[in-house]
This record gives sequence, structure tokens and C-alpha cells, in this order.
Amino acid sequence: MRAVQYATVGEPPRVVDVATPEPGPGQLLVQVTAAGVCHSDLEVMSWPSDAFPYPLPLTLGHEGAGTVAALGSGVDRVSAGESVLIYGPWGCGVCRACSRGAENYCPRAAELGIRPPGLGNPGALAEFVLVDSQRHVVPLGDLDPVAAVPLTDAGLTPYHAINRARPNLFPGSITVVIGVGGLGHVAVQLLRAMSATTVIALDVREQSRELALRSGAHHALPSDDNAVSAIHELTDGAGANAVFDFVGAQATMDLAARVVGMDAAITLVGIGGGALPVSFASPPFGVRVGTTYWGTRSELVELVELARRGEVDVQVERYDLDEAPSVYERMTSGQIHGRAVIVP
Ligand code: NAD
Ligand code: ZN
Ligand code: ZN
Repeated sequence: MRAVQYATVGEPPRVVDVATPEPGPGQLLVQVTAAGVCHSDLEVMSWPSDAFPYPLPLTLGHEGAGTVAALGSGVDRVSAGESVLIYGPWGCGVCRACSRGAENYCPRAAELGIRPPGLGNPGALAEFVLVDSQRHVVPLGDLDPVAAVPLTDAGLTPYHAINRARPNLFPGSITVVIGVGGLGHVAVQLLRAMSATTVIALDVREQSRELALRSGAHHALPSDDNAVSAIHELTDGAGANAVFDFVGAQATMDLAARVVGMDAAITLVGIGGGALPVSFASPPFGVRVGTTYWGTRSELVELVELARRGEVDVQVERYDLDEAPSVYERMTSGQIHGRAVIVP
């Protein structure tokens, strides 16, 4: 089968031929119908070889959808031919976090060598992908897999981040979303579907600001110094009640600290390498600063339901598997709008 592999640190990924895997006990083989391309892959491919945590070559792709093709022994809750989404942040399945579906926060996964597809295990940028457990697929029914596959990360990650910030998203509140790409534009849609907050989107790219407005943002502004005064004006000087940073660069984290008000929440989702110094009076009194990683199993089930009701409509750009290496180049140069989805 064809697969998109990152084989050598510092070199671009390539499309190669590899053996089609066979499901072992408890595993499922999924024939990929769609795989999303996440900015995190660019981060992974920027890590130096002495700090690279995964075995190489690595088949990329941690957003996957497909049709169940073969079942390992003991798999009895999923049927061949079913259309599914793959839940990516695999955990041990039995600890306290996993027992409530928060496998994204499984404290045992690392020590047990359990890693997500595309981030340590062979991923979904291939014709077939192995899923380690029937626990990790969510039925998709008749939803279009190309439109739905970004729900597994570009949707699930903001959905989880928004859930954690819910107390700040009261009617009349002001929410700032920084970075309106794959994750950020879904975040804007979810904020509108899940709350009565006013959404101010910030991005350096004009096309991303247009996408923000189409996604339901009330305001979309360039992500610069002028945004600080504009947000203070829009909040009568009080500052925002919630800030979601989908970039995480030093510039955006500084911006987050400058636009946030008292008793607000800053949620860092982007992995751009910035840092936010926290002391008693800075950021303002009562601000909760938090990071989030991916989302829980039950949240993915809920999100599929939201998509089924038409509350989330991910903007996707569709590409063939052979085009995947050039998709990463396009993403690097800021030419992907919404989410790129590969169809093998
Ligand atoms: P993307 O490339 O699709 O979108 C990034 C957006 O940020 C673009 O619209 C870009 O114009 C904008 N941007 C870049 N620099 C900016 C700046 N200085 N100010 C304002 N806007 C800026 O990326 P994505 O796939 O949506 O991922 C977003 C971030 O989230 C990445 O850092 C990614 O690694 C991270 N991520 C984190 C998790 C998690 O679990 N925490 C999960 C998935 C992705
Ligand atoms: Zn991702
Ligand atoms: Zn666990």
C-alpha cells in the first residue's frame, strides 16, 4: 500500500510503498477514506534527531477516517464495512483518566509505549491504518468522511478547550480566538454553537480573518498591537473573558496576556514555543492559564452529533495521497485555508 512517511530528520516526507498491515488480537484494520493534515506535523518534523521521540520511518497522519476492513480476534463491537472516525490519543484504557474517556490525559500511556497513530505509531496518511482497539473508533454513519475527518483533532481539540473554559463563556462575555486556521476556524464555529459569547478573531492572514467571519466571528482583526486597543474598546476597558491561543508563539502569548481581563481564562492550544510568565498580579487577578491536549472519547462522540446537526462545517481542501508532501509545503508557506484533507 502507499503511505506518506517521514523517514529522515530534516528531509521532507515522501510517498512510499509499504506492506499492508494485518490486525492482531484486539486490533482493527481500517481502509482510509480521508486523513487530515495538522500543523503539529510541521512541529514534529522540525525536531532535531537527538530529541526525536518516535521510531523512524514514521507514517504521518493523526486525523483518520475509514471503512473497517478486517477485524482481529476479540473485536466484536464493530463490523466490517462500517464507516468510522479514529480517536487518536490512545491511552491504557483502564486507569482513572481512561475510565472516564480522557485517554488524552492517560498517565500510563508513555511508560507502556502507547502512542497515537501518526505520532509514534503508523498513521492515517496511507491506504490502510491499524487501530489498536475497538474503543478507538466512533461510528460515522452516513456523514461524509472528507468533511468529518478534521473533527478528530481540528474539531476535538478546540471542543475540549472550550468545554474547560465554559464558566467564562457566559452570555455577554467576550472571547478572543488567536489563529484561525484548521483548529481556530472550528473553534469559532463551536463557540457560536455552544455559547452566547461574542467572538473576536485575530490572525495575521487576511484570508484567515475572512474565514473567521464566515465561521461566525463577530469581529476579525489583524493580530497586532492595534488589536489590543480595539479589544479594550470592545470590552469597555475590562478585557476579554476568555482567550484561546491556537498559535502559541511568543507574540501571541504576549498578546493574550495584554487583552485578557480579570477572572478570565487563557487557554494555550498552539505549540509555537512561546511562554507566559505568571506571577500574582500578572496576568490580571484571577486569570486561569491552562494548556490543553487533544480531547476525550466522549467529546468526539458529542462532536459527531454536533456535525450531524449541521452546527460544525469544517472548511476542507481536498488532495490526493501523492500530493501530501506538497500539502506540507503549502502549509509551511501559509497557503492552506481551513483544513487540508488527503483522500488516498
Ligand atoms: P494552521 O496552520 O491550520 O493554522 C494556524 C493559523 O495561525 C493560521 O491561520 C495562521 O495565519 C495563524 N497565525 C500564525 N502565526 C500567527 C500569529 N503570530 N498571530 C496570529 N495568527 C497567526 O494550524 P492548525 O493545524 O490549526 O494548528 C494550530 C496550532 O495548534 C499548531 O501550533 C498546532 O501544532 C497546535 N495543535 C495543538 C493541539 C493540542 O492538542 N494542544 C492539537 C492540534 C494542533
Ligand atoms: Zn494535530
Ligand atoms: Zn490510562
